[in-house]
Amino acid sequence: MPREQSHWEICSVCKGEGTLDTLGVVNPHDFSDQEWEDYLDGRFRTQCGTCRGTGKVRSDASKPIVLAGSNGQPVVYDDAADASEHRLRMQEGEC
Ligand SMILES: [Zn+2]
Repeated sequence: MPREQSHWEICSVCKGEGTLDTLGVVNPHDFSDQEWEDYLDGRFRTQCGTCRGTGKVRSDASKPIVLAGSNGQPVVYDDAADASEHRLRMQEGEC
């Protein structure tokens, strides 16, 4: 019996960046110039736990599907149909 094919996908939580913004939506006016430079440098970012900083995840039909929620938080789905519904809702901006 052939093995279940799995492949690499771009991590949907960090969009392949490997890091996550810890501050959410930011306002440059809340930062001093130095802090803002640090922010743009990525110093306030943290490693993405979903892909462990690699920016990619192994796609495997037997594994739960992890998608990014409205606040960038990981949302886990065991069912591919539920996950694609989530994607649709995200596209419509209702999630
Ligand atoms: Zn990630």
